[in-house]
Amino acid sequence: MIVCPDIRGTSYDLDADSRLAEAEGLALAIGIVIAESFVLGVRDVKPNLLFGTGQVENIRIACEQAEAELVIIDGALTPIQQRNLEEKLGRKVIDRTGLILEIFGERAATAEGRLQVELAHLDYQQSRLVRSWTHLERQRGGFGFLGGPGETQIEADRRMIRQRMGRLRRDLEQVRKTRGLHRDRRERAPWPVVALVGYTNAGKSTLFNRLTGSDVMAEDLLFATLDPTMRAIALPGAEKVILSDTVGFISDLPTQLVAAFRATLEEVTAADVICHIRDIVSPNTAAQKAQVLQVLRELGVAGEGEGEGEDAATIPILEIWNKWDALGDDERDELAEVAEHSEDIVPVSALTGHGIDALRRRLGELLTREATLQTVEIPIGDGRRIAWLYAHGDVIEECDVEGEGASGVRRFLVRLNPKERGQFESL
Ligand code: GDP
Ligand code: MG
Repeated sequence: MIVCPDIRGTSYDLDADSRLAEAEGLALAIGIVIAESFVLGVRDVKPNLLFGTGQVENIRIACEQAEAELVIIDGALTPIQQRNLEEKLGRKVIDRTGLILEIFGERAATAEGRLQVELAHLDYQQSRLVRSWTHLERQRGGFGFLGGPGETQIEADRRMIRQRMGRLRRDLEQVRKTRGLHRDRRERAPWPVVALVGYTNAGKSTLFNRLTGSDVMAEDLLFATLDPTMRAIALPGAEKVILSDTVGFISDLPTQLVAAFRATLEEVTAADVICHIRDIVSPNTAAQKAQVLQVLRELGVAGEGEGEGEDAATIPILEIWNKWDALGDDERDELAEVAEHSEDIVPVSALTGHGIDALRRRLGELLTREATLQTVEIPIGDGRRIAWLYAHGDVIEECDVEGEGASGVRRFLVRLNPKERGQFESL
């Protein structure tokens, strides 16, 4: 059950319906089955319950009818509100921060990402402990219990959390100093990587499924068990490419989660091409784009300006204008005009499949454009490197090397892109 409180006098990035849709997307992303979801207007926030008593009763009835086990409140709950709601609803209740932390926890791929997420989690938990302690104290009458068993336990928990957070901060410091991270990951990926980034609800998963659906490979079983957000696909000119679905941008991201979010996104720094999926129909599309670019810049993968030049992107970024099918005719014509003049914009509909072939072609071009011809010489006995060359490169011709001391060596004329060259040299 997802309840999206629409609190009067609060300003949100999105309207209530869009927020609800986003919350649904977030819940689905971690495999929650949604029984029902709705917006609930809140005139005055009740400090102990958030909603009015009648509203809470309605939520309870809705939960009973839908047999919901979990209630997600798509807003911020104080620890006391959370506790009281759980009591009144007879179910587990989590708020927006709790939900987002779950997603980050599942998706953090780098060492830094995992540390940041755990830190954010403990910070969240810590505030829950502190407040529920005062709450407990008040329940007991609020006097004479200093040093009682409850307090000792909570004190101990708090101390443990503080210590763990201290450790995590030191570990993070260490990880940042070493910074070998990105390169490690880059070297580990034996195939080019295309990363999908963009706001939640922009259509990343739909596009991911669209691109992977038709050519599932046996190896995917491995990826499926390891990481459901990575798949191998074939593209024109690049037989095997890893498509990676990153954690989505989220509107109104609670500030204490910003660092954790950036860290979970760090894996895009190891991508060979970044696809920035935009919901081109959303009224917020321009602001969303600005935010995505800002974060990509901070990660050091996007250039400062819009165009090329010295501070252009370090990783090619394609802008995917998704939901093309949902545009009105006039708007579509106007945008098509803009898209036609840019190599970096690809209009698609992940839903209908419109533009997907063009996207695949463009991705293939980007991944292979830097392939160059070169000659390499390998001793005949080195079957491993010869096999590698045939598997990864485009071998044009092969002959024996003539001359003194060169017997048993073969020369290959082969087309390799920079990534493959690096991999070959490190064999
Ligand atoms: P994600 O959060 O970025 O992974 O977005 P999803 O792939 O879950 O899509 C969010 C919503 O947008 C879903 O309801 C999709 O059906 C819808 N959607 C995705 N792509 C398109 C598209 O090309 N056209 C239209 N009309 N809807 C789309
Ligand atoms: Mg998704």
